[in-house]
Amino acid sequence: MTSIGFIGLGNMGLPMSANLVKAGHTVTGFDLVAAAREAAGKAGVTVAASAAEAVADKDIVITMLPAGRHVLEAYCGDGGILESARPGTLLIDCSTIEVDAARQFHAAAAEAGFASLDAPVSGGVAGAEAATLTFMAGGEEGAFARGEPILALMGKKIVHCGPAGAGQAAKICNNMILGISMIGVSEAFILAEHLGLSHQALFDVASTSSGQCWSITSYCPVPGPVPASPANRDYQPGFAAALMLKDLRLSQAAAQASGSPTPLGAAATQLYALFDAAGYAGRDFSGIIEWLRGPGAKG
Ligand code: NAD
Repeated sequence: MTSIGFIGLGNMGLPMSANLVKAGHTVTGFDLVAAAREAAGKAGVTVAASAAEAVADKDIVITMLPAGRHVLEAYCGDGGILESARPGTLLIDCSTIEVDAARQFHAAAAEAGFASLDAPVSGGVAGAEAATLTFMAGGEEGAFARGEPILALMGKKIVHCGPAGAGQAAKICNNMILGISMIGVSEAFILAEHLGLSHQALFDVASTSSGQCWSITSYCPVPGPVPASPANRDYQPGFAAALMLKDLRLSQAAAQASGSPTPLGAAATQLYALFDAAGYAGRDFSGIIEWLRGPGAKG
């Protein structure tokens, strides 16, 4: 049995920590929000009065926080995890944050004598509940070997992507592809509508031809061809447009910092920013097809 401290018991952290409890581990958790602490308590997590108390004397500490600044504050702030955890504890940050912030987290952990992993996820809340997340990990081999068996209790695929920050790099490259491809697929369906081509006909061709991609075959943005896609339930998420915009912005921050040309990534970021600002941040990101059609238009 491994003793685990879990900080951040929100939409993702709650089901992830609950899966560790179900697997028989002792999980002590903390969140700033009382309702999150209460829900975690009901799921079998031992609720601590502070982050410092949650991480004291643990084998592994996992964080699942909103953004880079929360992660750096939680680890490096006064009375933070680096001051409160015992030497030898493995630190795993599963939040989606800037590559640079992830590298800062690793550097601070190493300086304080801790092994660490950045291990962002894909799969969303449904994947967290079903323990079918994909983890993309960055860090040293030894840290990955220690963390993998625990991550495997919350996910079905665990990939060691490389050194510090490589997990975050993989996550934002993948999601930049996703944002661009969803807009591309949406544009193709809109063009088909204007040309009198049925959704099903375009799906039947493109899902088995060179236009094939996940945004068509698993997450088709029009109702009908893929019954499980959010298009069939009025674009309830799924993967909210606000989270897509967050990840696209992270991709653009990384592109700028590394001097990488990503013109379509930049365009996708602008389109999702406009989509979110138009009031759709809480909708599934595939709902951008409705907004692209223009006001009053129907598919
Ligand atoms: P969330 O806002 O539901 O949960 C984050 C929790 O962290 C909140 O409950 C908040 O109170 C808590 N928190 C913030 N600062 C804290 C601190 N210093 N100490 C203790 N608790 C603190 O967010 P989420 O949807 O669970 O997402 C978490 C991370 O996972 C984000 O980085 C997100 O981008 C990423 N992610 C989310 C999804 C998704 O579908 N929700 C999918 C993949 C990745």
